[in-house]
This record gives sequence, structure tokens and C-alpha cells, in this order.
Amino acid sequence: MNIILLGPPGAGKGTQAEFIKANYPILHISTGDMFREAVGNKTAMGLEAKKYMDAGQLVPDEVTIGVVEERLSQPDCSNGFLLDGFPRTIPQAEALDKVMAGLGKRVDLALEITVPDSIIIERMTGRVSCSQCKAVYNTNFNPPVKAGICDKCGGELVQRSDDKEETVKNRLQVYAEQTQPLLGYYEKAGKLKSLDGNRDPQVVFKDVQSLLEKF
Ligand code: ADP
Ligand code: ADP
Ligand code: ZN
Repeated sequence: MNIILLGPPGAGKGTQAEFIKANYPILHISTGDMFREAVGNKTAMGLEAKKYMDAGQLVPDEVTIGVVEERLSQPDCSNGFLLDGFPRTIPQAEALDKVMAGLGKRVDLALEITVPDSIIIERMTGRVSCSQCKAVYNTNFNPPVKAGICDKCGGELVQRSDDKEETVKNRLQVYAEQTQPLLGYYEKAGKLKSLDGNRDPQVVFKDVQSLLEKF
């Protein structure tokens, strides 16, 4: 099964992806994580991407589409994948459909997680993630057992530089302008399912599970 996760920054896409991964044999591909890795490794692509990420803007389509095309052609994608953070624009969605068709596959489900903007700002300023295994926590809503330390692997928890309130506001605006049109795109294709993400993460996951069981 090939699934894409849609929803504003902070909706809980990464959090739900963790639950899905723990329960189903599916590969999790996060373009945000891929870009952050490239930034950390100071590759040419990473240095280019960083300028946009720090400003809360999208990395240009040419760059992003190239990165994803390359990733989806790897053999480990053949048992299905969960795309988290891609596509985020109509050209990205069209490029994805083209790549998938070329590989003899298709997007089966576009899962949208909805959360009001006011809640998102609160969530984002408390987000921390593991520098080792990427597990996501929240200092307000989902704290680790020991402050600053990952429950799963003991790694150091860090805050993302783009989770400042000002940058988050930009990202929400970018989402409304560039990503929301995708909802119509997948709705027309009969692939869109939406869930209320403003509930306990486990409760949200119950709904995710009942959707996935239908496939
Ligand atoms: P969030 O989890 O808050 O939604 P991500 O980790 O998915 O954020 O993305 C972080 C940043 O990486 C984005 O603000 C953007 O600059 C860049 N990025 C990630 N995915 C894409 C994409 N599909 N297209 C363009 N830029 C992207
Ligand atoms: P996204 O990948 O969509 O940007 P994340 O999964 O990183 O979102 O979640 C953003 C922040 O909100 C994290 O700190 C996470 O722990 C927290 N969070 C995720 N889901 C929920 C939820 N259902 N209720 C409260 N906080 C949540
Ligand atoms: Zn960890």
C-alpha cells in the first residue's frame, strides 16, 4: 500500500507515521527528515534547502521532486510506503503520479489530518525530537520520561530551528496557499480521507487503523 499523509505542520503526521510503522510493514519516507539530514551533512542540496527551511518556505519543486524520484526508485520501496511531507504542491502531486505510473504503482490513499491553527502554534513550540532515532515528543503534551532524553533509544532531544512562532506562522500560510489545493486534487481522484487530529494521539491512531484495515 502506498499512502501519503497530508495536513499542516504540527498536525501529527510524523507522530501517526511512527504508530503506523510500529504496526504495519511499511516504509516511512519523510522529505523533512531527508532535507534535515542533507543540512546536517552540509551537502550542496542541503545548503540550498536550508535557506528555504529557515524561512518557513518550501524548497523549490525541482529540488524536492528530484530527491523524491530518486528515493522512490530504491528497491526498499517496493513493499509500499508512507510519504510524510510530500507532495506539498500540485506540481509535486503530478510528478508523483507520473513516477508511480512509471513504476507500475499508484497512490492508494491520501490521509489528511486536520488541526486548528491556534492548537498548532501551541504544539510546535513544544515539539522536540530525537537526534538519533527521530522519535517526536512534546514538552507540553507528550513529554519523555526523562527531560531531554529519548525514551526509545536514549538519544538527545533537540528542538528544530524552524519551530519558532514566527516561522511556524509562515509555514501555516504556505500550507494554506500551496498545499491545501492538494485536498481537491486527491478528493477528485477518490483517494482522500480526513481525520480530526485534535484528539489524543492514540485515539487518532484508532481511526487511522480502521481506515487502513479497509485496504
Ligand atoms: P512539518 O513536520 O512541520 O510539516 P517537515 O519536517 O515536513 O515539516 O518539513 C520541514 C521543512 O522542509 C518545510 O518547512 C520545507 O521547508 C521543507 N520541505 C519538506 N518537505 C517538502 C516538500 N515536499 N516540498 C518543499 N519543501 C519541503
Ligand atoms: P507533523 O509531522 O505533522 O509536523 P508531529 O507529529 O511532529 O507533526 O507533531 C507536532 C507536535 O505535536 C509534536 O511535538 C508532537 O509530539 C505533538 N503531537 C502530535 N500529535 C498530537 C496530538 N494528537 N495531540 C497533542 N500533541 C500532538
Ligand atoms: Zn531516540
